[in-house]
Amino acid sequence: FDLRTRVLFEKFFDTEDVLKPTNFKITDMNGACSEYLLCFNKEILLLDSRRFNLLWEYGYFDFMQAIVSTHRFIYTFQVILILMSVIYILMMFWGDRQSRDGLTGAYSRKAIYNAKHHGRYSYVLMMDIDNFKAVNDTYGHDMGDRVLVAFVNHLRKHTRSDDFLCRWGGEEFVVLYRTGVDENSMLDIVRRLWSSPVVIQDAGLNVTFSGGLVRMGRDISSSVNAADKLLYQVKRNGKNNVMLEAN
Ligand code: GH3
Ligand code: MG
Ligand code: MG
Repeated sequence: FDLRTRVLFEKFFDTEDVLKPTNFKITDMNGACSEYLLCFNKEILLLDSRRFNLLWEYGYFDFMQAIVSTHRFIYTFQVILILMSVIYILMMFWGDRQSRDGLTGAYSRKAIYNAKHHGRYSYVLMMDIDNFKAVNDTYGHDMGDRVLVAFVNHLRKHTRSDDFLCRWGGEEFVVLYRTGVDENSMLDIVRRLWSSPVVIQDAGLNVTFSGGLVRMGRDISSSVNAADKLLYQVKRNGKNNVMLEAN
C-alpha cells in the first residue's frame, strides 16, 4: 500500500501543474508534521477501516519557488505585466493629449506651469501673430485656424525637439528654449523664425508675427510677462520683428 500510494502520488505531482512538496510521507494516525515546514495532511480511510495519514510538507523557500514557477502564476504574472504596460502607455498618451491644444497640437498654457520647465529652460520667447483679427474678418475663422496650424508648423520646423512649444492663448505662442548660448547668439537663433515666410499658398496670405525674448527669470509667469512687454513695444514700433531684453 505504501509503495503504491507513493507511486501514484509521485505520478500525480509529475503530471499536474501543482505545487510539488519538499517532502511527503504516509504515516499512521500518530504521524505529525515536521517543524519549520508548511504542512498539509489528509486522512485516508481504507476499505478495511484502517486509517492512514497522508502528509505533504513544504520548506518555505520551496513553497515560494513552487508558487512562482507554476504555469498559472507565470501566466497571471504575464497578463498583469501586459495590462500594466497597456495602462501605462494609455495614461501617458492621455496625459499628453490633455496637456496639448486640440487645434495646433502645441502644449497648452496649463502645461507650461509644470515646475520642471522653469529650471530646465534658459530663454522665453513670446510671439503674437500680426493683424490676426483681420485674417478672421476677411477670410473667415476657418482660415484663421489654418493660419494658427501653419504658424505652429513653422515654429516646429525652426525649434528643436527639446524646446517647449506652447499655445499661450488665441494667437499668442510661447517657446521655451533649452540652450546655454549668450543673449546675442540666442537672438540670432530666434531671428531665423523671421527670416523665412509663413504663407498660406492658396489664399496668397503672408503671415507675420511679433516677438519678445527674455532670459528665463524667477518663474514662468514673470518671464512671460517680461517677454510680453517687449512684444508690446514691437507691436507699437510696426510689428513683424523681435526684441531682446535691454537691447
Ligand atoms: P495685433 O497685430 O496687434 O496682434 O492684432 P491682432 O488682430 O492679431 O490682435 P487681436 O488680439 O485684436 O486679435 C486676436 C484675434 O484672434 C481675436 C480672436 O477672435 C482670434 N482668435 C483667438 N483664438 C482663435 C482661434 O482659435 N481661431 C481663430 N480663427 N481665431 C482666434
Ligand atoms: Mg493677441
Ligand atoms: Mg495678434
